[in-house]
Amino acid sequence: MTSPVEKKSALLLGGAVRLPEKFEMPVRVSHSIAGPGAGMDSAAFRFGGMRVKKALVRDGGEFELHVRDGGGMYLTRGGEPFIDEIEFEPVVYHCPRQAFFTLDPRCCYSCAFCASPRLKGDKTGFSDEEIARRSLEAYETVGIDAVSLTSGVTESGVEATVWRFVSCIRKVREVLPGVPIGVEPYVETREQVRRLKDAGADEIKLNIQAATEDIFERVCPDLDRDTVLYRLKDAVEIFGRGRVSSNLIFGFGESDDDIGECMEMLCSMGVIPTVRSLRTGPYNSAGLRAAIGEPEEVTSDRLLKVAEMQKRILQRHGMDALCSRTMCLECTCCDIVPFRDLRFSS
Ligand code: SF4
Ligand code: SF4
Repeated sequence: MTSPVEKKSALLLGGAVRLPEKFEMPVRVSHSIAGPGAGMDSAAFRFGGMRVKKALVRDGGEFELHVRDGGGMYLTRGGEPFIDEIEFEPVVYHCPRQAFFTLDPRCCYSCAFCASPRLKGDKTGFSDEEIARRSLEAYETVGIDAVSLTSGVTESGVEATVWRFVSCIRKVREVLPGVPIGVEPYVETREQVRRLKDAGADEIKLNIQAATEDIFERVCPDLDRDTVLYRLKDAVEIFGRGRVSSNLIFGFGESDDDIGECMEMLCSMGVIPTVRSLRTGPYNSAGLRAAIGEPEEVTSDRLLKVAEMQKRILQRHGMDALCSRTMCLECTCCDIVPFRDLRFSS
């Protein structure tokens, strides 16, 4: 029998969910400009105590959503029963229970896996005032557990982008003094990390992205891995152990040992890895092929094995993913998150 977490793994790695004919969405469709589903219409679902965000289609797809006559919904996969009970989990801004905003989706860097430099248009995101206003409104109406902020690095550079985070954090803090704020910037100096904390951020995510230096250089050619590592060390000193996380994407051709060693390094620094399988789509396939060749397909078995490994390594370092209150570790929609999705396993 397939366990709920195995089903989540299949959903994470699988294709879109097809909606029933003439189905009217009872919740707002999310059109994210960051994260694995960037550029697609999607919705968050809840089943078996877990969340998953999936692209939605009206034709094709790998999974099919059905509405029962007496109420309730279920999911099939290729026409076969898959999940007996599933429901929509309303997305506030980008994800459930959080107001997660992209300050500026444009990025002057060119990480091979990332949608930001490739999204069409010149959308710049909301102003600080608008983000604060919308966050407060969401807090007072639907309720939110956190405000999270991410951004590409604009042509004005890293320093200007960090100042943009600072001004936005301050505006949000003015209206929501008690709500956790998480930030995901690219930073170059310890002083920039300090500035974000002083402005009122509670958690920070600085992304190591790839398990090895060699892969990092190929998939993030404009970034400096040593800088990320130095700033992660600073971030733990400034924000505290367990208040710092780092995206680690796998599926670039690294071994499981490479992933384990990278997670070990991060956890020994007091950083919680946000471990994510590589997702490919029209927006990144060509770039990835140029950087690393044809990406290997991540299997469900490997995804679960890596998540179990992550759980063991976190435990060994006396950490878990439950203390995180913002961004992806709190959201859980795109990954198998130890202690949240794997809470019932050993
Ligand atoms: S720094 Fe890299 S991963 Fe971050 S937004 Fe820019 S291109 Fe994407
Ligand atoms: S897990 Fe992260 S990227 Fe995915 S929907 Fe949630 S906040 Fe966005």
